[in-house]
Amino acid sequence: MNYDVYAQKALSGILLDSQEMHAILQTPNDDILPLLHSAFQVRKHHFGRTVQIQVLMNAKSGLCPEDCGYCSQASNSDAPIDKYPLRPAEEIIDAARQAKANGAYRYCIVTSGRAPTDREVDAVADVVQQIKQDIDIDICCCLGLLNENKAQRLKEAGVDRVNHNLNTSKNHTPNIVSTHTYEDRVNTLHAIQKVGLDTCAGGIVGMGETHDDIIDMAVSLREIKVDSIPVNFLHAIDGTPLANSESLSPYDCLRALCLFRFVNPHTEIRVAGGREKNLRSLQPLALYPANSLFMEGYLTTDGLGVSDTHKMIADLGFEVKTMETENPLALVQ
Ligand code: SF4
Repeated sequence: MNYDVYAQKALSGILLDSQEMHAILQTPNDDILPLLHSAFQVRKHHFGRTVQIQVLMNAKSGLCPEDCGYCSQASNSDAPIDKYPLRPAEEIIDAARQAKANGAYRYCIVTSGRAPTDREVDAVADVVQQIKQDIDIDICCCLGLLNENKAQRLKEAGVDRVNHNLNTSKNHTPNIVSTHTYEDRVNTLHAIQKVGLDTCAGGIVGMGETHDDIIDMAVSLREIKVDSIPVNFLHAIDGTPLANSESLSPYDCLRALCLFRFVNPHTEIRVAGGREKNLRSLQPLALYPANSLFMEGYLTTDGLGVSDTHKMIADLGFEVKTMETENPLALVQ
């Protein structure tokens, strides 16, 4: 098999055909290195050896009325997690300052819930305005379903990007959640795009979906033209409906990341939640297709810390992308 064909097509802007996409997800373990090499050609062309680090802030946790089967904060979850309303502004701002000091390019403020109230949008917007005045860091918000008015309010406050994941394919969505639809999620992405905010949308692999579902999600994200794709791997949490899901192998994760890279060649691809649990000692290989990662854990699960994350990137011979390396003039001003 000549795996370079995938890179050639991706670099020419050609969408792989269905057979090729299935073949990627079925790549034999013995061929994982040539597959990664081919995905790396695409990653290197668009992003060089840079890695964007992103830090999450779980600004409001638990108590969500929705029933997303993977989520420890859902109404149908018994997982013993911390539950709290929107954290005080100073805490969110201090954590942004710390994220910047630790080399993060982007800070993502996340709140649980179906959709934010006007008051919550205002509160988050105020915090973002304060962060933007003091700290040179890109801001992403993930607040649930949004309409254009709320998205506009966030944009005016200085938010750079909004995340709202598709999570899975249109077909598989009803197996994962009953309280909102795939269309609700797509409509939120359109509202975000309409006001001129960057869009971040990805999904979770390992929720009992088929290869067709993974391919459908990758292609849908290409069609929606999102700017960033977080690829999560299910971290099955006790007390959630998906607690007993079959686990992924590290190779499954690498094959999925390669697929997302070939289908979305110039989009930021982030190896996201469940990285440590599912990729285990093969985590570094994920940065051949992906060019971005989370540091210091996720919403309710832990992850690789600051020093180990930087060490992994340095050991690979990759470099952390910062506002300063992207815009050298910022260093001399
Ligand atoms: S993923 Fe979001 S909307 Fe779904 S249950 Fe969790 S907090 Fe609620």
